This record gives sequence, structure tokens and C-alpha cells, in this order.
Amino acid sequence: MKIEENINLSNFSTLKVGGKAKRLFFPENIEDIKYIINLSQDTEKKLIPIGIGSNLIFKDGELDYIFVSTKFLKNLHITENNEYFYIEADAGVSFKTLVNLVKRYNLEGFESLSGIPASIGGAVAMNAGAYGSEIFDIIEEVYWINKEGKLIVSKKNEINYSYRYTQFQEEGFVYKAILKLKKSNKNIPQIIKKHLLDRNKKQPLDLPTTGSTYKNPEGTYAGYLLEKAGFKGKRVGDIGFSQKHANFLVNYGNGKYKDLKKLLELAEEKVKEEFKINLEREVKIIE
Ligand SMILES: Cc1cc2nc3c(=O)[nH]c(=O)nc-3n(C[C@H](O)[C@H](O)[C@H](O)COP(=O)(O)OP(=O)(O)OC[C@H]3O[C@@H](n4cnc5c(N)ncnc54)[C@H](O)[C@@H]3O)c2cc1C
Repeated sequence: MKIEENINLSNFSTLKVGGKAKRLFFPENIEDIKYIINLSQDTEKKLIPIGIGSNLIFKDGELDYIFVSTKFLKNLHITENNEYFYIEADAGVSFKTLVNLVKRYNLEGFESLSGIPASIGGAVAMNAGAYGSEIFDIIEEVYWINKEGKLIVSKKNEINYSYRYTQFQEEGFVYKAILKLKKSNKNIPQIIKKHLLDRNKKQPLDLPTTGSTYKNPEGTYAGYLLEKAGFKGKRVGDIGFSQKHANFLVNYGNGKYKDLKKLLELAEEKVKEEFKINLEREVKIIE
């Protein structure tokens, strides 16, 4: 298995902020993953899986965890019957790859998710979603490895998940997932194009970002609250809430973790003061 040392974690977060990891593991198969999980147990160091890093923020300085990139877990297997396609995808398979498949075979169920910069592992762990759907709408089964290094196959109804939450955020490593997609009569590539254009219009895709910083509180939008509280475009150093979308953090060049922390604390305090709402972070911050 490939192991890299003295790694710049900023290269593994789409916000491009973060310090150094002593080691980063790149498992290529299930045995490698089990080995790393055992190592995490033996050394009592927390294991941090990294997909695309589009929802992950690392603090500056040296971080002492077992970091694991899913970059080389790329197996993809497709089966079909008259009505459905079943896509069995390893944790490191990207949504970009899935979008190409979905377009090629005109499959229904993935179009709303198509612009999310995710790996299967990260999307399953986060229950990523957009435009009223989420990845768990199309999940059949998840293969995951628990803290004892045991492979478990869970059907969707056996998994604890909700809005941007799954049990995998606390336990286990997502190894692969099986998605069920319907053969469609609609023009799927066209629908996907529409979603991508809409994202381009609303999101600051020209700057390093991590997408939504906060979950939407029940009945309202985090972006709306942040905007009303005066945080749209607000900066501390080179980190700011985007001018284009108040809930998106962006890095204007030389963003530092301490600035980010300060900005989040200011925003959370102000929103609480003005709306009596505690914003819940969607981004995963590794300190
Ligand atoms: C421009 C932009 C737009 C976005 N739009 C959306 C959107 O519309 N909807 C949405 O839901 N999100 C969105 N996001 C956030 C992000 O893309 C999603 O949360 C995505 O699912 C993260 O996938 P990832 O592979 O990058 O995971 P990472 O960011 O690498 O990891 C996210 C979390 O999952 C854990 N994890 C990663 N892989 C595994 C694994 N194999 N097993 C267990 N845990 C794992 C990580 O440790 C971390 O806690 C957006 C982000 C950006 C930058």
C-alpha cells in the first residue's frame, strides 16, 4: 500500500486550508483498510477517511491522526435487468465518473446529485443531497468496516441516516455502496446540464470552497440567516463567506485556519443573538 509522509493537508481539502499530516495511507483493497483500522485501534489514534475533501477542513500545524485517502479504491461494477441498473462502486469512485455512466445509459435518480464534488464514501457518510433528493434515495446496500475491522453489509433500512447525517460519521469506514438507478425515458443528460448551470449561477465555483458550511435549520436556510445577519461577503483575513452564496466559505488565496475559526464563531454568535437559532456545522473540521 502506498503511504506518503509529511503531507500538506491543504491539498486534500477543496478549501485549500490546513497543516501537515505525518502520514497518509492510500489503501487499494479491503485488506489494506482492515490493516489501517487495526493500526488505529492499536495506536488509539482516530482514523480520518478523506474522499475528495469537499466537506473537510483541517486546522493548521501538525495533526496526529491516521489519515486515509480513498483515492485508489476505484472498483466499479454494473449489473442490469429490464428496469434497473445496479452500480456497485468503491468508496473512491467519484461522482464525475457516475455522472458519465448515468448520462451514457440514461439512468434516472442521480441527476439532482450530479454537480456535487463527492466520492461515494464521502457522499454516503454525509448523506449528500441537493434539489430535494439525497444519495440514500438510491442506495441499496452499503459495505462498511467497523472499528473491530469486520466487514458488514447493511441494507438501506438497517442504516441510521437523516439529513446530512449517517452513522458512518461516528463509526466505520465505508468500503463500497450499491446504487439502484432506473432506466429512464426522460432526457437525463439535458436535466443534468440544467442542474450544473444552476449551480454555476448560484455557487462560487471559481474559488476554493467547501460548499455549505452549516446545515439548514428546520424551516429556514442557513444562507438566508447568514445574509440577514450581515455575513454575506464577510471576511476575516483571506477566509470569507461568499458574495455569491452566504453559506459557502471561500478562500481568497492565503486562508488560515485561525481566521476561519474566528469567522465561524462570529457568525454563530450573531445568528444566535438575532434569530435564537444555533447553526449546526455541516462541514467536518479536523482539529
Ligand atoms: C462546490 C461544492 C458544492 C457542494 N454541493 C453540495 C450539495 O449540493 N449537497 C451536499 O450534500 N454537499 C455538497 N457539498 C459538500 C460535499 O461535496 C459533500 O458533503 C460530499 O458528499 C463530500 O464528499 P467527499 O468525498 O469530498 O468527502 P470528504 O469531504 O472527503 O469527507 C466528508 C466526511 O466524510 C468522511 N468520509 C469520507 N470518506 C469516507 C469513507 N469512505 N468512509 C467513512 N467516512 C468517510 C470524512 O472523514 C468526512 O467526515 C458541496 C461542496 C462543494 C465544494
